[in-house]
Amino acid sequence: MLTTPRLQELLKTHFGYDHFRPNQGEIINAICNGEDALVIMPTGGGKSMCFQLPALALEGVALVISPLIALMKDQVDALRANGIKAAYYNSTQPPEETQQVLQDLSDNTLDLIYVAPESLALLDNVLSTTKLSLIAVDEAHCISSWGHDFRPAYTQLGYLKKRFFDTPLVALTATADRSTQDDIAEQLGIANAKKYISSFDRPNLYLDVRPGQKRNEQILAFLEKHPFESGIIYCLSRKSTEALALKLQSKGHTAAAYHAGMTTQERTQVQEDFINDTTPIICATIAFGMGIDKSNVRWVIHYNMPKNLEGYYQEIGRAGRDGLPAHTLLFYSYADTIQLRKFIDGTQNETYQIAKLERMQQYAEALSCRRKVLINYFGEFLSQDCGNCDICKNAPAYFDGTLLAQKVLSGVTRLKEQEAMGMVIDVLRGSQNAQVYDKGYQHIKTFGAARDVAWRDLQQYLIQMINQGLLEIRFRESGRLLLTPLSREVLFEGKQIQFANLTQPKAEPITKERKPKKPKGTLFEKLRELRAELAREANVPAYIVFSDASLKNMEDQEPQSLEEFLGIQGVGQAKMEKYGADFLKVIKEHLKTTTVQKSGKTVEETRTLIEQGLSIEEIAEARNLTVSSIYNHLIKLHENGMDIDFDKFIQQVEIRQIRTARSKIDNPDKLKSYFEYFKEEFPYWKIKLGLYLS
Ligand code: ADP
Ligand code: ZN
Repeated sequence: MLTTPRLQELLKTHFGYDHFRPNQGEIINAICNGEDALVIMPTGGGKSMCFQLPALALEGVALVISPLIALMKDQVDALRANGIKAAYYNSTQPPEETQQVLQDLSDNTLDLIYVAPESLALLDNVLSTTKLSLIAVDEAHCISSWGHDFRPAYTQLGYLKKRFFDTPLVALTATADRSTQDDIAEQLGIANAKKYISSFDRPNLYLDVRPGQKRNEQILAFLEKHPFESGIIYCLSRKSTEALALKLQSKGHTAAAYHAGMTTQERTQVQEDFINDTTPIICATIAFGMGIDKSNVRWVIHYNMPKNLEGYYQEIGRAGRDGLPAHTLLFYSYADTIQLRKFIDGTQNETYQIAKLERMQQYAEALSCRRKVLINYFGEFLSQDCGNCDICKNAPAYFDGTLLAQKVLSGVTRLKEQEAMGMVIDVLRGSQNAQVYDKGYQHIKTFGAARDVAWRDLQQYLIQMINQGLLEIRFRESGRLLLTPLSREVLFEGKQIQFANLTQPKAEPITKERKPKKPKGTLFEKLRELRAELAREANVPAYIVFSDASLKNMEDQEPQSLEEFLGIQGVGQAKMEKYGADFLKVIKEHLKTTTVQKSGKTVEETRTLIEQGLSIEEIAEARNLTVSSIYNHLIKLHENGMDIDFDKFIQQVEIRQIRTARSKIDNPDKLKSYFEYFKEEFPYWKIKLGLYLS
């Protein structure tokens, strides 16, 4: 029987972590007790650990079914970096490699074997003689035709439980609603397995939504604030990925496009460069990011609004898997909504899709905590505002918008509920354009009634009115605006309306062609450089060597010995042995130079006080330093070119005496010899100064 402390010990020795994440402990215990399990955990929640740790604790080899070859390779690399015996088996390997894997399996020398469902049959023979510790079906939603990534080969996995009936089977996925969950459990023959459903909340993701005006400028300003961080910008079309990548390149950023129109080879290259931190910025259509385990994606931007919250959540979920803060930014414009509506119009299950789009829109237009909206959608409830979204950080102020709302509603009435938003706004603002004049709208009473409100602001207020149920929009009838029962209350019954103040995106000034500056000199940056070098040598992605979280932890803790290094998050026995010395060296070097810099600062403070006319003794007292230190500062300042009148402190004759002493005494390198030679009449600082000046 494996005890929890024993499992925690394995967690530390092999993976370098001190605690289990929520649910991990229970799941691991259950598997170690021979139970089946269905695990629903958000991306980045730590699903892999749920089978990797039992694989080490239990006897035999763990059979892991994984749909994507890239993912498989990545996990095996990560395991090996931790000194764990793992391998994968799939159709892309050269024969000598598969031969080796088969050999290792029959020799029972592996702890984990990853295999694609399509290749499973090829292992049939060897598996009949191998002791299996457990079976893990990763990305288990692929088994369900209800899900969005259906994989026919997954449906054959039902035989596993029949054949290895006393081996625990665990199915894991990040996306499965209730019906998909049941479908998975049933098809895999684990209908009675306990379900472990983790919270979908990812508190480290900052949720940010901004109006979609001047997106490119906003993105450039954003990138200035996030230099050299990895991130993904999701665009709707292939063309826009390319245009944006070019734009960013022209401003000195390293960026690449990624879309389905590129060759497999091109796409693989882009993906690899991203994983290896060579290309930090990818402008992609939604296909990008699937099957990438990169843990240090620091931000995700949506150039356009996605069509539902599932897709959106999955995409932003690719940021911050290492648990460190990550920024997600969605650009929202009403035009996007209209565009998406057009895509949906007339398609199958249209009503369903429209309902989803409306929830997405509500999220984008939310005037209260966004995380609440998001989490509610996935069936969970937050009792408090999250404090980590743009609304929580910067709650909108409200003002009494009754009068403005009345003007709008009266305008819509006079336009006989026949016009779309654009025309309504034009008329309210008294625009003198041809469309208005052709229809004779310049004569209606509300023409120009909201002249004082900017076009875009008025548009935002109209959207708020739609969301408050004060106006209805008929998408199928070219988007004309109509009154609702609520609008009558505003017009005739004195109902009061509140509008949220609009916060305009500050299009921050972009200096031309300015290259982003690398944050030089921080310990984190030095550690990153070392990591990159080690990753290149080992031919693995940088985050396989250490995650950003581990590097941050090193920066905070500044470990000075191997023992202290082992205390760092993500440092297990294997990585301590492999990398400890290299990282300690960089940390120690860094500490040395910063101490010198610190003393550089203190010299500068002395300079300031001298310039203010304080005497040496006054400075020493003010700074709580010895007089001798202040004289040392003087020498440094003089070396650095400061004009100092030393005559105030030492006479020429004293300098001459010290020079003579130098040729007479036994140990001229030691200040103490002079001190004794002058019978303690010259203080040490004067000796030093004399030597410096002679
Ligand atoms: P998922 O497969 O659920 O998306 P991963 O298994 O890739 O997530 O884990 C995400 C990150 O969390 C990885 O970098 C992993 O090493 C880390 N991790 C997993 N378990 C723990 C833990 N108990 N403590 C700290 N980090 C963990
Ligand atoms: Zn919030």
